[in-house]
Formats: sequence, C-alpha cells, structure tokens
Amino acid sequence: MPPTDKHQQLRNLPGVDHILENTKEDERFFEIPRKVILESIRSILESIRQDILDNHTAEIQDNSIIEQTLEAARERIKNRLVPVINATGVVLHTNLGRALLCQDALENIQTISQSYSNLELNLATGKRGIRYSAVEALICELTGAQSAIAVNNNAGAVLLALNTLAKDTEVVVSRGELVEIGGSFRIPDIMSKSGCHLKEVGTTNRTHLRDYEQAVTENTGLFLKVHTSNYKIEGFTASVGLAELSCLGRKKNIPVMEDLGSGTLIDFSKYGLPAEPLVSDSISSGADVVTFSGDKLLGGPQSGIIVGKRETIEKIKANPLTRALRIDKLTLGALEATLKLYRDEKQAIRKIPTLRMLTMSYDQTCKKSEALEKQIKKVIPTARVELADLESRPGGGSFPELKLPTRCITIRPENMSVARLEKSLRQASPAIIGRIEGNRYIIDPRTIQTGQDEIISTTLEKILLKK
Ligand SMILES: *Cc1c(COP(=O)(O)O)cnc(C)c1O
Repeated sequence: MPPTDKHQQLRNLPGVDHILENTKEDERFFEIPRKVILESIRSILESIRQDILDNHTAEIQDNSIIEQTLEAARERIKNRLVPVINATGVVLHTNLGRALLCQDALENIQTISQSYSNLELNLATGKRGIRYSAVEALICELTGAQSAIAVNNNAGAVLLALNTLAKDTEVVVSRGELVEIGGSFRIPDIMSKSGCHLKEVGTTNRTHLRDYEQAVTENTGLFLKVHTSNYKIEGFTASVGLAELSCLGRKKNIPVMEDLGSGTLIDFSKYGLPAEPLVSDSISSGADVVTFSGDKLLGGPQSGIIVGKRETIEKIKANPLTRALRIDKLTLGALEATLKLYRDEKQAIRKIPTLRMLTMSYDQTCKKSEALEKQIKKVIPTARVELADLESRPGGGSFPELKLPTRCITIRPENMSVARLEKSLRQASPAIIGRIEGNRYIIDPRTIQTGQDEIISTTLEKILLKK
C-alpha cells in the first residue's frame, strides 16, 4: 500500500463517537455496559489503525467495525470462571474444582446467603455466638473427637495447628512423610511459615519408634504424622503407627498431630475400594489433633477441619491466626448440610457426588458408556467410536495408585489429529475435558453428570462434522 493510501485510509477511519452512536440503536448492545462498549470500540479501532500502518488491508466500513466491537465486548463481559464437563474420570480433580457439592449443600448455601442468619449470635442467650458451633457438635459426633473447628482449607488447618502447638520448637517428622501436594503445599515450607523447626527422623523408606524417641530434646514441641496421600512407598518399609506414636507422646508429654490430607468418615473398603484412613480411627489412636480437607474424600466445600482433644482445640481457637483463616458462612452452610448426610451412610453415598462417583460399579460405567455411545452414533454415524475397558483415578491426593475399572468411550477421529480434537473440545462452550491415550481420545463416563451426554454428542458433531 503506497504511503498516501495509508494516510487516506487512516483519515477515513470512523471516530469512536460515530461508532458508539451506531451501537445505541442496536439491541444486541443493550445489555452491555457503555464503558465496555467504549473500551471495545477503542481497541478495535486501534488494531485497525495498526493493520493499516503495517500495510495489511483493513475493513473500515461501519458495519464491520460494529460486528467486531460486538464480538470484543461479548468477550470482555463473559465470565472467566465457567462450568466445564469433566470427562477425565478423575473424581477429585483439583484443576477442575475438586468435589461437586450435593444438592442439600447447594440449597443451604442459598438459604443462608439470601437471608440474615445466626452466624455469630447465640439465639438461646441473645449473646454473641461462635461461628463454628454450626458444625462442631456434628463433626464430633461423626469422628468421636472431643472438639472441632473448621477453617478455610486443610493447608490453613495444618499451618494453624503447627503454629499454635509448636511455634519456636522442634517438630519431629519422618523423612518418609515430607510430602508435597500439588506443588504449592510442602510440609517443610508450611513448617517454617508456621514458625516451627523441622526435625527429620528415620529414612525415606523406614522410620522406627526409636527414631522419634532419640530425636526428643527439651526443645521438642510436637510429633507430626503426615498421611502420604498422593504416593506410596513399597518394598522394604517401616513406619510408626499413630497409636504407638501417641503412646510415646504421652510418655514424653509431647502432643501428637496427624495431617490426614483427605481423611474419610466412611470405610471405603466396604465398597471394594482400598481402606483410606478414617478420621475416627486417628482420634481413637489417641492423637491430640487431626486435620483433614473438606473437599477431598469428604465431598464437601473447600475447608479444613481440625479435630482433637478439648484443651488442644481450645488453644487453636484462641490463636489470632484462626481469625485470618476463618471459614465463611456459605462454606459453613454447605459443610453442615454435607456432614448431616453422613449420619446415614447409604444416604451419604447416594447424595454426595464424590462418594457416588467413587463407588460407581464397573457395570454402571458400562451402562453410562453404552448410552453415550448410542447418542454419539446417532448424530455422527460414521464416527470411529468404540467402548474400551480402561481405568479412572480418584485424584485429589487420595487412594494413591488406585485405578477404578471403567468402561470408557474412545474416539479415533478421521479428519483431524487426536490432539486437535482434544483442543477443540477443551475450547468449546462448555469446555469438555477428556484425555488422550495413544491415538485415541478417551471420554470417561465416571465423572460425567446427568444431562451432559447430549452436550457432548452435539459438540462432537460440530467438531467432527465441521458444522
Ligand atoms: C490435600 C492435602 C493438604 C492440603 O489440603 P487443602 O484442603 O488442599 O488445603 C494437606 N495435607 C495433605 C496430606 C493433603 O493430602
């Protein structure tokens, strides 16, 4: 483009006000805030100006600019946090939001947030109440603990318990339990942030009671056990049980804490899954304090639950850090509603999505996959869709190594690569997140929710048939 043409084009470019005026009558812009429309017009005009300067051909008709503005404005106002379809089979997928809340929890969030509540008012006395009392008795009933408190998340619970019980003292931990969870939570780091000094004992694969015993000095403040929730050491191994360690703690007058990570209230071994540590077992082993997550195996909202002996929990409640980590009312409402379901285990399994998905039988996954396969073949008869016996993973740092037998859907696209199919599904609306194995795209039915089959098949139809 010769320079004179460039200048001519730049001069012909409409002004911001002119485009803005044009959007006023257009009802597609009615719902969009004026500020957003203005920003969008400016950015579109700027990019056209740049195109002209860079010698590209540019569309400078009003209509084209208005259409581009509309697209840019819609992009600006759309939510960034959006639902996605989890077709990975990973039940507790931290990147996809971990536990899905049960209906009771959702309803209670609405009830509690639409109205004022007795969050910190004791209705019996009319005096100031304690926010944790909504869940404390229930947690104690379900775990056998004397006292309990819930905070923002389990990382916070660990930080708070360490800081309360062992600030400026040595905390004895086995070398086999210095875990990292998801990169941002590492036992040595949380230890130093809580003001404690880590005293490692034993070796990676073997730690004995005498290792703990020999590590005790006048400056020892706590024995800590950490559930190695996301990996397993196999072979020539030895570790000290919580009951044994609690015994030593009593003898030496040193408190004992366990970070259970996921921690569960029901015995999964009854449902054909490996046994994950029960919170009630840790309590009856004599630990002074036990921490676990609300949104892992419990299947509730993000929260950290601290249970234990009365005096220990009282000290934790009095720590000023507790205020900084306090649980909000929505979470508290969701947690109470979820915990209530655990009074009847059958009901908990039926109503709490995490438990339902984890205990879903292989036969049930076959039924789900067959139905989805049929639905996909109905809209894309030519698709290379097959069923295959594969495995789902629990995720969320629970059940290390466990693979759940699942019948999955596999797709081998004909006119594009599997990587391309994965990307297109991920960028669809709603996004569908699956996995690739070899040259197949895998859709795992275990984590697909009711009503999502049709969305999956129509999205596949759009992508594979390029509609
Ligand atoms: C997951 C986990 C944590 C962190 O819990 P969040 O609820 O994610 O904060 C801490 N310790 C262990 C052992 C865990 O598995």
